Amino acid sequence: MKIGALEAGGTKMVCAVGNEKGEILKKLTIPTQTPQDTMPKMLDFFEKEQVEALGIGCFGPINPVKGTPYYGYITSTPKLPWQNYDIVGTFAKRLHCPVGFDTDVNAAALGEATYGITRGLKNSIYITIGTGVGVGVFSEGRLLHGMMHPEAGHILVRRHPKDTYEGACPFHKDCFEGLAAGPSLEKRWGVKGAELTDRREVWEIESYYIAQACVDYCMILSPERIVLGGGVMKQPSLLHLVREKFAKMMAGYIQTSQVQEVENYIVAPALNDEQGVKGCIRLALEES
Ligand code: ADP
Ligand code: ZN
Repeated sequence: MKIGALEAGGTKMVCAVGNEKGEILKKLTIPTQTPQDTMPKMLDFFEKEQVEALGIGCFGPINPVKGTPYYGYITSTPKLPWQNYDIVGTFAKRLHCPVGFDTDVNAAALGEATYGITRGLKNSIYITIGTGVGVGVFSEGRLLHGMMHPEAGHILVRRHPKDTYEGACPFHKDCFEGLAAGPSLEKRWGVKGAELTDRREVWEIESYYIAQACVDYCMILSPERIVLGGGVMKQPSLLHLVREKFAKMMAGYIQTSQVQEVENYIVAPALNDEQGVKGCIRLALEES
């Protein structure tokens, strides 16, 4: 079966064709501009490939709730040209095939749960710390949606005593995303995250926020493993610091074997930045 996968991101669109095993056979990456510029290129690509189903993992907020009037739409995104855009309907009309739809980070969570580091587990979460912070929740063997989808990047966290930065979230200022996503690093310290490797205090504060979030998600969702992805996590010392602080903040309260073995509990993704598109393959399969 020829399966289409679209990882629709705020900066780039990754279009891919793969098979049931999650193997990616072809890929096309194009910059995210307006729907008028970007959609025709993607439609042409998938039409030419004659995909039999398509899965879309999309930047949000989106409406993934079937049976509601605006199902399949990108809703209140700050990317204005894409606001209230019927992305599922547009692909379905042209490609005449089933279209699966979820958030980009839910797709990444599903990719890892199907083909990667959380394969075989019924409960896991995938956190991305990049331009924003997002959390995909795989719970009891399926993606969690609730009334739409979790927006767990915007949880409120305890401020680091040495952090005076006001926070970058346009809605809440100092929510988790506002204090810990890539742009907040740049605004707080004056240079991009990738150039801050040698500054210990930067990663002290950063890991303090990420570890708190991991504690909160662990307490609320009880995942069997937590995957930490996104551009900021490429920072070499960060994963170790998060694990260390997580264990300290937990203070021995949860005593499962998973939590006690923290190197195995909080982990990096395993699919070489293809967790998103591979998750989209599975979204397509579930729809067909
Ligand atoms: P997106 O979230 O847009 O999909 P990424 O996950 O690649 O993209 O995240 C991009 C963010 O990660 C940017 O804010 C960038 O500055 C930051 N970033 C990229 N590499 C590093 C690094 N090595 N250390 C810290 N921050 C980084
Ligand atoms: Zn926020």
